[in-house]
Amino acid sequence: MSDSFDVIVIGGGPAGYPAAIRAAQNKLSVACIDAWTNRDGSTAFGGTCLNAGCIPSKALLESTELYHRAQHEFAAHGMKLERISLDVALMQKRKTAIVKGMTQGILSLFKSAGVTPFTGRGRLLPGLEVEVTGADGARRMLQAKHVVLASGSEPMPLRGVDFDGKQVVDSWGALEFEAIPKRLLVIGAGVIGLELGSVWRRLGAETVVLEALEQFLPMADAAVSKEALRHFRKLGLDIRLGAKVSASKMEKDGVQVSYTDAKGGQSLVFDRVIVAIGRRPYTKDLLAEGTGVALDARGFVEVDDHCRTGAENIWAVGDCVRGPMLAHKGKEEGVAVADQIAGLYAHVNYKAIPSVIYTAPEIAWVGLTEEQAKAGGRNVKVGSFPFAASGRARAMEAGAGFCKIVADAGSDEILGIHIIGPMAGELIAEAVLAMEYSASCEDLQRTIHAHPTLSEALHEAALAADKRAIDIPNR
Ligand code: FAD
Ligand code: NAD
Repeated sequence: MSDSFDVIVIGGGPAGYPAAIRAAQNKLSVACIDAWTNRDGSTAFGGTCLNAGCIPSKALLESTELYHRAQHEFAAHGMKLERISLDVALMQKRKTAIVKGMTQGILSLFKSAGVTPFTGRGRLLPGLEVEVTGADGARRMLQAKHVVLASGSEPMPLRGVDFDGKQVVDSWGALEFEAIPKRLLVIGAGVIGLELGSVWRRLGAETVVLEALEQFLPMADAAVSKEALRHFRKLGLDIRLGAKVSASKMEKDGVQVSYTDAKGGQSLVFDRVIVAIGRRPYTKDLLAEGTGVALDARGFVEVDDHCRTGAENIWAVGDCVRGPMLAHKGKEEGVAVADQIAGLYAHVNYKAIPSVIYTAPEIAWVGLTEEQAKAGGRNVKVGSFPFAASGRARAMEAGAGFCKIVADAGSDEILGIHIIGPMAGELIAEAVLAMEYSASCEDLQRTIHAHPTLSEALHEAALAADKRAIDIPNR
């Protein structure tokens, strides 16, 4: 096997593996090094996303949503279930099988694209040399013309609340519970807290969510956050805002967690605690002295708008660089870098990166919120359409939520689209396309949407922005 490659990618997650595949498609010789090790000691490509993030969380969200709907919705369809029970072990087995299938798929993709995989820890040395250390300690030196750093991120620890892997866990641990916790605490009402809190709440865990900020989901449009909070509370998530956790202690009857809120010091006891207060870049042992690659104060690899580090022919993509920590953002950067290395044009449109929270109702948005647009001095017009007025949503027993368009009142350009409701994560694709092509509200208004579909809500929201909606009164 050659030790010399046109491109070496360090990290085989959703930023690294697409970079490797695209570089190979561009007729470059490519190696991809990955160090992911599962709890059982097995190794797998796919990074956080496939092994302990996007995919296993969505598998559990799907299972638990079905369970919840069977309990709470089937009756409305005239279906009576005498008794429904859940086999947690089987639910977890299904999740594990999905993860295994997806991660093994990457190796097949590498094979067909001609990417050489290396399992082990990669370390960049000066002179575009990369040292790979296998699990057995064996070392190997590789030489590259270009190196792409894609080492990802790791959960942020919370001082005073130490992970023990059993009762106090990170998001990976929370995906592996073998039984439904009776009393569950989630620290952080961010994306992970809400998704994984929903998973275990739907199965019956008494779930408290402590969020340090006073504002719920501050990154979402305010109307969406407000609607979301109402639904999460209806599900039974006991979300407490302005609650700062200071310490935890193992007691006989569980984990005692202390926090302060507006009322002063509080303390509660839980069986399981999930710490989900954000993630930080993972760059441990990635760079030897003298590579010329700089890290910023928070540990992110410093890059420009094209993912170039300050060092020649060294690039960095995904969670280890600035920007939202999302798999599709990393993928886009990885592919763009591989094209640039091959001398092709590439560009990542950071203004059109969709965000999705896979809860029920689902939440998705792209572009500016109404508040951001106004704060930026834009004269905006807004159109909203509730799913309660959508025939398809009603037929699906999913009339909660709405679709909202924020547009420039003068130019008609769409500035942002915000959806809370059924299949929001799928519906947002049309919004992203609209923004990618700098569409106006009129463009969406003149686009025919099939009836009856959920996507009509987007069409009607665009019409509502000009007070020309058909299926709701215009105010
Ligand atoms: P990673 O996926 O972290 O991959 C980096 C890889 O590099 C890892 O395999 C790591 O072991 C390896 N590595 C690190 N250092 C070295 C080294 N020195 N040598 C060799 N290998 C190394 N995002 C979404 O867009 N949608 C979702 O639904 C979603 N759900 C999530 C759910 C959870 C519970 C979590 C935790 C995250 C979720 N994310 C989601 C975020 C998503 O997982 C990340 O944005 C994404 O994985 C980042 O990709 P990456 O390739 O940059 O890094
Ligand atoms: P997050 O940044 O989304 O949320 C963390 C929350 O914890 C914030 O609301 C923050 O105010 C709160 N917090 C911080 N310190 C706290 C403290 N001491 N006590 C109480 N609350 C505290 O981070 P996350 O939920 O951990 O997710 C990490 C990353 O993973 C995110 O960037 C997200 O983009 C990504 N992710 C994406 C998806 C998705 O796309 N569906 C799913 C999961 C994770």
